[in-house]
Amino acid sequence: MKNLHNALLLKQLYQLKQLGYKYTDVTPYQEEKIDLLLPDTLKSLQKQAMTCHLCDLSKSRKKVVFGEGSPHADILIIGEGPGATEDSSGKPFVGRSGELLSKMLENVLGLSRADVYITNIVKCRPPNNRVPTPTEAHTCQPYLLKQIELIAPKLILTLGATAYHYLTGDDTGITKVRGTVHTYQKATLIPTYHPSYLLRNPSAKKEVFEDLLKVKELMKQW
Ligand code: URA
Repeated sequence: MKNLHNALLLKQLYQLKQLGYKYTDVTPYQEEKIDLLLPDTLKSLQKQAMTCHLCDLSKSRKKVVFGEGSPHADILIIGEGPGATEDSSGKPFVGRSGELLSKMLENVLGLSRADVYITNIVKCRPPNNRVPTPTEAHTCQPYLLKQIELIAPKLILTLGATAYHYLTGDDTGITKVRGTVHTYQKATLIPTYHPSYLLRNPSAKKEVFEDLLKVKELMKQW
């Protein structure tokens, strides 16, 4: 193994010599030690995500929308991906659907955005607000899984079909699955409709209200 390594190194040096490089006392070849582990604090995880270029969404994004809220929140809310307002501000759910989400949290659960943690399946805006591709969602997933590990929420609320599907791998339709109670790792998971769906179909608000009442019941046990 060592011989092979040295032979490859020598070959590389000959190639560099052919290209016109001269001797230098700093080796042009350095075996890079790649750290495949993600950082163990939310702050350093965010720092790493801010410079992420692992998928094509990084080419068109303005800002990475990592997530925000209490790092020790009992409730973690997961949406699909940033829209235009989020892409410009770097904050999740600050557009029209965000306003509706904040109102529902306040009115039904008595919680502010700062009491929960809000993030998305993908941290960069998909062009024209399209649904993230499986590759984009899976490439971004380690950030989300690490967020879940570090925040250790008691309850996860997924918003819309995409968030539920990519988090759990279950592709049961959202109409069927919303309001059902699951276990995800150590947390309770409840899927509900996405606020942008509610903006288009206000009559579905009563179902989300019911789902949030379930969350409220669970909160009494904490
Ligand atoms: N829709 C989402 O799914 N996430 C956001 O952050 C904003 C809108």
